Amino acid sequence: MSRRLLIDHATVFDSAAGALRPNCRIVIEGDRIAAVTDEPIAVDDVASTIDAGGRVVLPGLIDAHVHVVASSHDLSSLALQPTSLVTAQSSTILRDMLHRGFTTVRDAAGADFGLREAVARGLFEGPRLFIAGFPVSQTGGHADMRPMGVRQREFFCSCAGLGLIGAIADGVGEVRRAVREQVRTGADQIKIMAGGGIASPSDPLEGTQFSVEELRAACEEAEAANLYAMAHAYSPRAVSRAVMAGVRSIEHGNLIDAATARLMKSHGAFLVPTLSTYAALADEGQRLGWSAAMLDKLAKVHARGLESLAIAKAEGVGIVFGTDLLGHMHARQSGEFAIRAAVQTPVEILQGATIEAARLMRQQGRIGELVAGAFADLLIVDGDPTRDLSMLAEPGRGVRLILQGGRVVRDTLGTA
Ligand SMILES: [Zn+2]
Repeated sequence: MSRRLLIDHATVFDSAAGALRPNCRIVIEGDRIAAVTDEPIAVDDVASTIDAGGRVVLPGLIDAHVHVVASSHDLSSLALQPTSLVTAQSSTILRDMLHRGFTTVRDAAGADFGLREAVARGLFEGPRLFIAGFPVSQTGGHADMRPMGVRQREFFCSCAGLGLIGAIADGVGEVRRAVREQVRTGADQIKIMAGGGIASPSDPLEGTQFSVEELRAACEEAEAANLYAMAHAYSPRAVSRAVMAGVRSIEHGNLIDAATARLMKSHGAFLVPTLSTYAALADEGQRLGWSAAMLDKLAKVHARGLESLAIAKAEGVGIVFGTDLLGHMHARQSGEFAIRAAVQTPVEILQGATIEAARLMRQQGRIGELVAGAFADLLIVDGDPTRDLSMLAEPGRGVRLILQGGRVVRDTLGTA
C-alpha cells in the first residue's frame, strides 16, 4: 500500500532564505518530507493529493517558550493538584496549541517525560514536545514558590510529578545533581533561573541568581548530556553572567541593553522574548489577584518588552518565538505575532517561529523548514504571510490545513 501524500500547487515558504517559492510539489512519505521541488516531476505511488491551489505552505510553527502544564495562573495551587488532573488539563492545552498551527513546542519547565510520550504515541493530540522537566533554581530564586511564612524545604513535595515545581539547588554539587536528575528523567533541555522574576514572591527583578560557578556547572552538566541550558533572566547583569557561563538561550530578556545584546551575539546565544504574557497579565493581573509588588515588577518588564526586541534585532541576535502564557491566557498564544510586528518584519517573525527556533533547539533539518528528510509538519494558509501575519493571528480562519508528521490535523480546504 502506498504511503505517499502529494501536495500540489504549493507556494512554499523557504524559511532559510526567508522567501516564497511558487509552483512547488511536496512529496510526503510516512511522517517525513521526501521531496520539495518546482520541477515538473512525476510522482508515482501516490495515495492522496492535496491541492494547495497556489496558497502558501509554511513549516509547522514552533513556540519555544510554553508551559503546557500551566492550566492555572496560580502555580502554587497547581503544584498541589493530583497529577492525573494536571495531565488531563494539559491535554487540552496541547490540543489547542496544535490547532493554532504549533506543531512543535519547547516546554520551559513543567512538562515531563510522560506527557512527551503521550503525544509521541498519539494518546494526546499535541505539538512535538521538548521538555525541560523541573526548573533548576536557587533557594529563594524564581522557581522557589514557598510563601514567606513557610520554612521547611520540601513544601511542594518533590514526589509530585507535574506542575512548575522548582528543583531547588544551592552550591555547585547540588546544581550538578539537580541538572543530572532532569537529564535522568528525560529532559531535552535544562531550564535554569538566572535572575529575578515576576510571579515569585521574594526575589528582586534585577537581582542575579546562582553564582557564576553554579551557572557554569549547570551548563557543563547539560552539555555533558548533549543538551543545553536555557536561562530565565531579565537584567543586563543576569543575562551577561548566564551567557558567559554558556547558556544557549535567554528567556524574556526584557531589560537588556545594547552591550548585553552584543555579548549575546558574540557568544551565539539566542533571545526568546515572551511578550504576549506581559500583555495578558497587564490586562488581567489585577483581576487575578496579583499583589502590588508583582504588578509593579510586571509593569517594568512590560514597558521594556518591545525595546528589548528592537535592541536584539539591531545587534543581530537570533530572536526566537515564545509566549510563556498561563491558564486561560493560553488563548492569546497567536497574539504574539501581532505584538512583534511593531519591531520585526513578518518574515523575521516567521523565521523566529520556524528555522531560528530549530537552530536554537539543535533540530535543523528535522523541524522548522520544508526540506527532504524533515518531519512533514506544515500549514497551508490563506494570504501572503511574508507581508502580514493576520492569518496566523486568527488561525481558525486563516490556517486552512495543518499537517503533523504526515497526518492531517485539521483541513478546511476539503481537497484531501
Ligand atoms: Zn516561562
